[in-house]
Amino acid sequence: MKMRIPLIAKLTFATSLILLVFMGVLDNINLKNFRKVMVDYAVANAEEVADVISQSTYDAMMKNDKTSLYHMIGRIAESKNIEHIRLIDQTGRVVYSSIHEEIGSVIGKHADECIMCHNSTRPDLSTSSMNRSRIIRTRAGKEALGFTKAIYNQPACSAASCHFHGKNDMVLGLLDISISLEMLRQKSHEYRLEFVILTCMLLLIIGMLVTILTHYLVDIPVQRLVRHSALVAVGDLESRVPVSSRDELGELSESVNSMTESLGRADKDLKGWADSLESKVEERSKEIMRMEEQLRRSEKLASLGTLAAGVAHEINNPLTGILLFASILKSDKRLDQALLPDVERIISETERCAGIVKNMLAFSRESLPQKENIALDALLDEVVTLFHKQPDFSSITIGKKYAEGLPHISVDPNQIRQVFLNLVINAGHAMPRGGELAISTYTTADGMYVCAALKDTGDGISDENIARIFDPFFTTKAEGTGLGLSISYGIIENHGGKIEVKSGRGEGTTFTVMLPVSG
Ligand code: ADP
Repeated sequence: MKMRIPLIAKLTFATSLILLVFMGVLDNINLKNFRKVMVDYAVANAEEVADVISQSTYDAMMKNDKTSLYHMIGRIAESKNIEHIRLIDQTGRVVYSSIHEEIGSVIGKHADECIMCHNSTRPDLSTSSMNRSRIIRTRAGKEALGFTKAIYNQPACSAASCHFHGKNDMVLGLLDISISLEMLRQKSHEYRLEFVILTCMLLLIIGMLVTILTHYLVDIPVQRLVRHSALVAVGDLESRVPVSSRDELGELSESVNSMTESLGRADKDLKGWADSLESKVEERSKEIMRMEEQLRRSEKLASLGTLAAGVAHEINNPLTGILLFASILKSDKRLDQALLPDVERIISETERCAGIVKNMLAFSRESLPQKENIALDALLDEVVTLFHKQPDFSSITIGKKYAEGLPHISVDPNQIRQVFLNLVINAGHAMPRGGELAISTYTTADGMYVCAALKDTGDGISDENIARIFDPFFTTKAEGTGLGLSISYGIIENHGGKIEVKSGRGEGTTFTVMLPVSG
């Protein structure tokens, strides 16, 4: 696995490396300059000593007092910074040296001390003092500056009593001085040490400053961006990057934020579409189921209607005969009074049969609604008034909550009255021990239907029965016909409306009749 190196570490490392190289180059240049200045200084020093010696030798030379001359040079050579001093004559012989073993030895023209002037056939006497100096190693292996100064012939020298030098001699000899550069070495060493310490401190401070600045200006904003993209990757499109600067990183954060916002919007749209698609599919499936159920019921009603019409027609005539003859029998004086209750029972049962037949005929009759423009609440009030004095409703409270300004509906008032009568009777049957029937009216949100909801506090309808209550002849009552709801269903359907039921065992039942607002 590749090692993860944080950005800040890379930046700090790169900056430190650049600084280190830069400081290294600077150190070298500085040291070279320092050394040059020090060597110049040493040359000037050597020249001064050489001048002092040549001035001081003049008198002793005039007196040809070599002993005191050598003594004096020896004393100067004892100075701390002077390595050695020697006098070389025209022939290259060392006539005096602070290193005694050297005395008498001969130095060739090509030796380091001489080559500076003798590098051509004619000696170059105009060579600068800098050119007459050289860096040498002493016998002890130390670094030193060698400086050579020519001793020129002067009129006094050739005219002196010793007549040692000829008139035409230009140079009488050489004064060669070696000055120790040990102090220079030490100083440059100290200087370098100081420079290195300073460089390290500078590096540390610059490194720290670069780290702190990079941390606040680059690392923190980048970290925020990294954290933000991790959140977006796991689906958090509400997250935003704080924008704390106006630089490129700030601009980047702003564009990342607007990108996340657009992503969030697109995601919301997508979810919305998915949801609406889902609910549309659900709605359509419900609609299809409802239509299938409606079709099934309509087919059933149609075939049953035909059957009922035939049966009712056949039964109606004999029933009328039974009722007529039973009524005549009841009023016949010859009838034994003990048989009167049986005759009355015949009459009441026949009447019940006649009622069923009447209902069956109503059910089978495809009578078209005679529509009128009416107010639904007025019609409901009419129905409710009918039940005020009914003994079955003595312990039932009927509550009304009508919406104000309900639009009128175009319906057959007799048929719709029949529907509500059925619903109220059924509610009464569902609450034998009393209860409450709440009737409310309202308009649907789309304004297409006017609705009446009848909510009772009865026993409710089981899940098993609720699918069958609109089926003709389905009843749970001992003396029920099972036709009330199927007739009501047919009527509402003929009016272009809907009838819905909501119920559960022990939860009461709500029937909602929805009728289209008259156009
Ligand atoms: P019937 O009233 O003659 O039984 P309906 O078609 O009017 O015929 O009713 C069918 C069945 O629906 C009833 O037998 C009853 O079981 C059920 N039902 C109708 N209305 C209610 C109601 N409000 N509460 C409970 N059950 C009801």
